[in-house]
Amino acid sequence: MDVRTFWLAGRAATGDSQLTVTNPHDGRAAGRHSVPTEAQVEEAVAAAHEVAREAAALPVHVRAEALAHVSRRIAERADELARLITAENGKPILWARGEVARAVATFRFAAEETRRWSGEVQRLDTEPAAAGRLAYVSRVPYGPVLAITPFNFPLNLVAHKVAPAIAVGAPVIVKPAPATPLSSLVLGEILAETDLPAGMFSVLPVPNERASALVQDPRLPVVSFTGSAPVGYAIADQVPRKHVTLELGGNAAAVVLADADLDWAAQRIALYSNYQAGQSCIAVQRVIVEQPVHDAFLERLLPAVAALVTGDPADEKTQVGPLVSEAAAERVEQWVGDAVAAGARVLAGGTREGATIAPTVLADVPHDAKVACEEVFGPVMIVQTAASIDEAYAMVNDSKYGLQAGVFTRSLDSAFRANRELEVGGVIVGDVPSYRADQMPYGGVKDSGIGREGLRSAMEDYTYEKVMVLTGL
Ligand code: NAD
Repeated sequence: MDVRTFWLAGRAATGDSQLTVTNPHDGRAAGRHSVPTEAQVEEAVAAAHEVAREAAALPVHVRAEALAHVSRRIAERADELARLITAENGKPILWARGEVARAVATFRFAAEETRRWSGEVQRLDTEPAAAGRLAYVSRVPYGPVLAITPFNFPLNLVAHKVAPAIAVGAPVIVKPAPATPLSSLVLGEILAETDLPAGMFSVLPVPNERASALVQDPRLPVVSFTGSAPVGYAIADQVPRKHVTLELGGNAAAVVLADADLDWAAQRIALYSNYQAGQSCIAVQRVIVEQPVHDAFLERLLPAVAALVTGDPADEKTQVGPLVSEAAAERVEQWVGDAVAAGARVLAGGTREGATIAPTVLADVPHDAKVACEEVFGPVMIVQTAASIDEAYAMVNDSKYGLQAGVFTRSLDSAFRANRELEVGGVIVGDVPSYRADQMPYGGVKDSGIGREGLRSAMEDYTYEKVMVLTGL
């Protein structure tokens, strides 16, 4: 098996050890990669630091052309990348192809956004004392970005950190998830084809225990982290003076109000509780149904769940594949078992075979069960009933997380009310909380994180406003 190189300051490199990545579906090797030594990590950080000033001054046409090139090349290598994601992550090829298409768009949006990225002029002579003065406000990168990414979208969530960094002219060092580093190494190969200066990017697949040195390195002033809440907050605590963005977990709710299109709601909730085996930070976990339509909704939901195709992720028809590891599936099985022992009823699924959990629907789940109040990160939904809209929205907010919520309603009034009252970073009206367009602001409140992604938002996050006052005008 070929050993993939990693990317050190824009060029291919090998270290003195290797790691194998395992396919969670069949336990076979999905690939092998070289691991950077400590000296090589130091070299990458020093190169990022040294190139930072040059990077910030890179002409926009150079940044835009590099980003457009990456977008085109991901599109050209789409099939290879999708198969690699399926092999390293166990994600059904259907969803892997979707992820690759999104990464194509993410880089394209960044190429467009960098062309629009300019400062603004503010008149200061709104007050007599500032007559004759004008402010030019520009945004300046803090410096090199350390991008730490999770296993569940091994290409597009790396794209969401790399693309805005290049767009603002910030060097970036990617530390991919150890379970799924292979697609980010292909991305490194594509980035190496561009005219970006050496040092502008590195992809360093180091084990977790070595990531802390990168987090603490003062030459990397921005840490952009996507992953679980405990790891994210531990990182933020380590470096209180750095600019830290945290895109964390959730236990997203979908609300089905009495006026909803029940067929549509049932189809969407069935699919998006189980897509990628529920391993998405905005997978539907809690379904809150207004009492009058509860039974009619369940009559539609359960057949929709039963119709999902579970199986080999490499099969084009498969919708639900394995979790990232058997250990992850055992944890989900345990949480379902704990809920059942505490009185929950299993309406569908509840079984495990290797790393695969059957799409699971639970009812009568106690309030303090882990499947209700923690992030399941598996194909499990709990169905709850609300007596009114008030109660439904209060139930959404009864969570330590607040990433996105979905509200199925035809009423503009209920939609705006949801927007006012729900404690989340995004309200999706007429669809599941799992909806995300890559250019929109995306991120959470409460324990779901700090800061926003989405191209424009991430570009703002990686930069600070700098003002230059012109006098005597
Ligand atoms: P994780 O927290 O285990 O790991 C995330 C990243 O942090 C990985 O690269 C990991 O290697 C690294 N890491 C682990 N320990 C570290 C340490 N001590 N120092 C530095 N880095 C360290 O998360 P995961 O299991 O890979 O991903 C699943 C989680 O990610 C879920 O909680 C999910 O909700 C969340 N997620 C959030 C979003 C979002 O945009 N809000 C998107 C996708 C996933």
